[in-house]
Amino acid sequence: MSSSHDTRRELRAIRGMPDILPAQTPAWQHLERCISELLGSYAYQEIRLPILEPTELFARSIGEVTDIVEKEMYSFADRNGEGMTMRPEGTASCVRAVLQHGLLQQVPQRLWYLGPMFRYERPQMGRQRQFHQVGVETFGLEGPDIEAEHLLMTARLWRRLGVADRVRLEINSLGSSESRAAYRSALVAYLSARETELDEDSRRRLGSNPLRILDSKNPDTQALLRDAPRLVDHLDAESQAHFAELRAILDAAGLSYTINSSLVRGLDYYGRTVYEWVTESLGAQGTVCAGGRYDGLVSELGGPATPGVGFAMGLERLLLLMQAVGAPAAPDNRPHAYWVVADAAASRLVLPLGERLRDALPGLRLQLNCGAGSMKSQMKRADRSGAALALIVGSDEMAAGEVSVRELRIEGAGQQRVGINALQAMLAERFAL
Ligand code: ATP
Ligand code: MG
Repeated sequence: MSSSHDTRRELRAIRGMPDILPAQTPAWQHLERCISELLGSYAYQEIRLPILEPTELFARSIGEVTDIVEKEMYSFADRNGEGMTMRPEGTASCVRAVLQHGLLQQVPQRLWYLGPMFRYERPQMGRQRQFHQVGVETFGLEGPDIEAEHLLMTARLWRRLGVADRVRLEINSLGSSESRAAYRSALVAYLSARETELDEDSRRRLGSNPLRILDSKNPDTQALLRDAPRLVDHLDAESQAHFAELRAILDAAGLSYTINSSLVRGLDYYGRTVYEWVTESLGAQGTVCAGGRYDGLVSELGGPATPGVGFAMGLERLLLLMQAVGAPAAPDNRPHAYWVVADAAASRLVLPLGERLRDALPGLRLQLNCGAGSMKSQMKRADRSGAALALIVGSDEMAAGEVSVRELRIEGAGQQRVGINALQAMLAERFAL
């Protein structure tokens, strides 16, 4: 028996799907709290969406000829043979949900969600197979004021998280689908004449999704693109006016940006405004937040023509960025006090007393020594817990109806006796509870 156990392979998490350990969760909770407070302050409402969706949803929304749908999705048939996919992003699910539940009967809608997304990519810093996004989607708003609201809101978040001076904003307009089609022809004509100079990926895209070539990281292709026709020169009049008005609002609000005319984004549903918040601090994985307008998506998925605007940010990249700038990761969540108890009789006193203290002081963080142990080993655990105080109940204290209170973090502060009935007031004062 035991020998077969020894040869068994060690079970490990799937590559690119890391655990988030207790030492890391305070930073996550802090980030999530900042985000949900911020979104609440702009009157956005949370929506919770399933992780599995019918595969067709993503093929129809993100686009068949995109990196995500072509090579990054975790898709499988369930026991019933139904094709399903672990969501690679949230916009498609959100649109599916608002349609399914009739939420568009009341527009505008301002929604957000948070959760894991799944893409089969090569894992590296800032790129995982299970990662987390916070997404924001708004429906029923056609003017550029909503794009501006999103951008000002995210700028506020960067300030709140202490990363504002490490990110910058790039914006572009993709125009209407008609003007984009005209531009596509001009681009294809230009590039077809130079097809042999294109990298392999771009050559393939020439026939399927030529705008994505603008995004190519290949230096030769980039050089070729320098003299290519530009998207901004092909914008229809309405898209031009929309883009100009967005820039005017951002200028009035003092939010700086650069126009990147080759910014196209990797998802097919975008039209008009697209943008990315990028940083130089995370190497190649420099985009922390990306979004734009998708006025055609709701009808594409079978709903009434409804403008949509949204963005998603990657939480792993944001946390890496916060770490890189040394931003305060999380408020202190170590216990205020740690009970050290001499014996079972002391535990019988301390457990109900602890409950009464929690009733009276809801913010109190109290840790009990479970599993007995010598006073010395309990004091070691108290120290390791990070608690500010040890609350010690030995036989002397029991007899006197008192608790010995020892400061663990203040050198030379020593120890004092406090009557059990005075403990609540002492803790309230000591920790401003
Ligand atoms: P990239 O160009 O880095 O692959 P993307 O264009 O595929 O990004 P989006 O689909 O727009 O990214 O997703 C929005 C955000 O989600 C990204 O800006 C990034 O912060 C985060 N993100 C996307 N893919 C991953 C991943 N595999 N691991 C970690 N974060 C990711
Ligand atoms: Mg990607």
